[in-house]
Amino acid sequence: MTARVLAGPPAAEVLLQDAAARASRLPAQPSLVIVRVGDDPASVSYVRGKARKAGEVGLRGTVHALPEATSQADLLAVIDSLNRDDDVNGILVQLPLPAHIAEMAVLHAIDPRKDVDGFHPLNVGELWAARPALTPCTPAGIMFLLKHYGIAVAGVRAVIVGRSHLVGRPLAALLLNADATVTVAHSRTHGLPSVTREADLLIAAAGCPGLITPEMVKPGATVIDVGINRVPGAGGRSHLVGDVHPDVSGVAGALTPVPGGVGPMTVAQLLANTVRAAELQHHLRSEGAGELVR
Ligand code: NAD
Repeated sequence: MTARVLAGPPAAEVLLQDAAARASRLPAQPSLVIVRVGDDPASVSYVRGKARKAGEVGLRGTVHALPEATSQADLLAVIDSLNRDDDVNGILVQLPLPAHIAEMAVLHAIDPRKDVDGFHPLNVGELWAARPALTPCTPAGIMFLLKHYGIAVAGVRAVIVGRSHLVGRPLAALLLNADATVTVAHSRTHGLPSVTREADLLIAAAGCPGLITPEMVKPGATVIDVGINRVPGAGGRSHLVGDVHPDVSGVAGALTPVPGGVGPMTVAQLLANTVRAAELQHHLRSEGAGELVR
């Protein structure tokens, strides 16, 4: 048996088309500003890709690049001015930030209604209270992918390997809100294989190449590989692999590839979140609800 391949791009395309259609119904073109501090090559390339994709679906994507030496106070001043700018609907601060800047102080400073990454404590709280507004892009993108491929979530036993604020925790909340029975495993979990073998839906988000091997997977399970790991390949060239060993495709019922699985969903969801943020803001203004939260 070979697992059904749950490719990201077709699902991402549906999500993007929906975002573009909703954007076209808004009174103004939704606008996303991505703030980047420093010149980390991976961040430069991620940010460029996000801004380009925004343009492709009719959003205005702008990169606000700041030098590595930018102080925390100066970065907070930039965020404050973006919060106040009615022409900006979404603000994303590309992580990681340089070591001299406290990440949490910056994430807390973003207007929660412009927080397209969903990392502000207000949005985190709303998610856990089952009233999600803006939810982190990778977990929300995974939920869309599951829906797109008709994979049932309600009532199933879901196991997430990884408990980060970026992926594992918010995905646990989303799956719980969708009526799954959720277990979150992590680096201190005892007997990981016996935990993962219980999963009808197994999500690997640990950042460990090949961590999930065939004997850790229940036959027929759906396996979502979130991991993106750069490993050395033949001829001195590196390549990307996930957290799931390739042999798992002989046991699982369905599996996301790496690359081309969860990755494209993350970018598509960011743009969907930007449109959602714009809808929320226009709605509030048209209701005369006054200032957005600062
Ligand atoms: P992280 O390092 O913040 O968290 C990793 C989590 O995995 C931790 O909770 C840790 O306890 C757990 N873990 C690590 N080793 C483990 C082990 N051997 N057994 C069990 N649990 C273990 O990482 P993150 O930001 O959540 O990212 C996880 C992976 O997902 C990385 O490879 C990252 O590149 C990738 N990622 C992909 C996307 C995407 O769009 N596809 C988005 C975000 C992150």
